[in-house]
Amino acid sequence: MRMRAAVCAAVDGPLQIREVGLRPPGPGEVLVRITATGVCASDVHIVDGSLPKPMPIVPGHEAAGRVAGLGTDVDDLAIDDPVVLTILPWCGTCAACTGGRRRACEWAASLAATGTLDGTATALSIDGAPLHHFNGVSSWAEYAVVPRTGAIRITPALPPAQAALLGCAVATGFGAVRNAAGVGAGQSVAVIGCGGVGLNVVQAAALAGADPLIAVDRNPRALAVARTVGATATVLADDHPVDVAIRTIAPLGVDHCFEVLGRPATVEAAWRATAASGQTTVIGLLPASSSITLDAFDLIAEKRLVGTYLGGITPERDLSALADAATAGTISLAPLIEEITLDDLPLAVERLRAGTVTARQVVLLE
Ligand SMILES: [Zn+2]
Ligand SMILES: [Zn+2]
Repeated sequence: MRMRAAVCAAVDGPLQIREVGLRPPGPGEVLVRITATGVCASDVHIVDGSLPKPMPIVPGHEAAGRVAGLGTDVDDLAIDDPVVLTILPWCGTCAACTGGRRRACEWAASLAATGTLDGTATALSIDGAPLHHFNGVSSWAEYAVVPRTGAIRITPALPPAQAALLGCAVATGFGAVRNAAGVGAGQSVAVIGCGGVGLNVVQAAALAGADPLIAVDRNPRALAVARTVGATATVLADDHPVDVAIRTIAPLGVDHCFEVLGRPATVEAAWRATAASGQTTVIGLLPASSSITLDAFDLIAEKRLVGTYLGGITPERDLSALADAATAGTISLAPLIEEITLDDLPLAVERLRAGTVTARQVVLLE
């Protein structure tokens, strides 16, 4: 079939909306009509090269859609089922999967490294040549062919833009708070970076009973949204180290400091803002080969530095539960969304890069 998609032809090359080809789903695959897809910093990192991927590529990894076609052996999904896509598909047969570490599936890792759907070939094409997939998703398009295990059925009651957010921003934010950090009631929390993911960290920490809950960002409008989802204090980041500002609110430091920007300087600030026996949780994607410098003497105070990837979630267990919580209103997603169109994507990437967006930009396709 032919469809429209956002194509990144080369690192730092222009992102262009092009007509591309997509083959039908093969065995173990599903065709999904994309209904909504978010613009995440990781997509921008593909375009600017700090997250190296085979080119040309269709970015996009945070998406919701409807099942539009089934591979021959797929019998546990039906046409028009609402699904959330995930960058954590699994094969069930590799050493990691059979060893109970599905999140480390070797087959999924090979898809991510090769930009293909089976380790050798792409389902996408442009001008007769292969067009690569982003971690088996590539949702900046009207349709996607994905592995069966990369499409998670959810309730039809959740609006598509909100459902899309579950796949990355919500999964990452809630997962980091619940799985990587285990924030408890009454613990002090600071969140450095209140974009799409950071606002979900704030929201999850508020639901866990964090107090004080300090939101940190350069953008006053992002801090205003953070207040609406539970922040009890805000720090407008300027040229001064943010750890000093956090410690004026929590003099001993915070029990949990989350870094959501992926910058060495703010990881170091998060470490300095973390209290004795506290934990610095790094959510942001640091550039490949970057380094951080920490005061190692802090280790005697039993401080911990923890990395996390997509919130440590198990997609088929956690995504449908998060969808139910969002539908019930326990999780509030509507205030975090700014709706855009497919044609807006090149500008949306520039806006995210410039730091001028407050909410998650979500492409609506229906
Ligand atoms: Zn993402
Ligand atoms: Zn596997």
